[in-house]
Amino acid sequence: MAKKKCKRCDSVIDSLGFCMDVTCPFSDHKQTCPTGWVGHPARKEILVKEGLRLSDKCSCRLRVKRAKDYTCFEYSAYLDRRDKVLDKKPEGCPYDIGDVVVVEETQAVGVVLGCICEDGDLRTDVDGMRCWSSPGYLRFATVEDIRTLRCSDKLKKEFRSDS
Ligand SMILES: [Zn+2]
Ligand SMILES: [Zn+2]
Repeated sequence: MAKKKCKRCDSVIDSLGFCMDVTCPFSDHKQTCPTGWVGHPARKEILVKEGLRLSDKCSCRLRVKRAKDYTCFEYSAYLDRRDKVLDKKPEGCPYDIGDVVVVEETQAVGVVLGCICEDGDLRTDVDGMRCWSSPGYLRFATVEDIRTLRCSDKLKKEFRSDS
């Protein structure tokens, strides 16, 4: 299979979808993320052509394949307010199992393990239960977060396997 090339700089893309040229914005963002085109003179035209949103907001959603690898415990996926197991995610929760998130209070990067509860909390592998329903507690992590914030070696390895 031919190696995939970066749309912006033509460098090789690693197995996780990131450009291997560290000076390229796509080294921190997937090829589908509008943020990868920031600073490009034809940014607007390119975003339109590529069918991407015209915002600079990062749309990369980092996920691990097996959230179970990040815990020794069996957590239920979704719960109602009385801790009864639900078969689908509580309405309005943007996070799902395996998503990589930043816990804002402690600036730690972690993995959503489960216990996504209707009462507005969920469990991560760092810092336990955290609130998903109000802003300011959790956010989706970026590759940059994994490089710069507190983060397990395992997670670091998962997202920078080729470097
Ligand atoms: Zn590139
Ligand atoms: Zn991005």
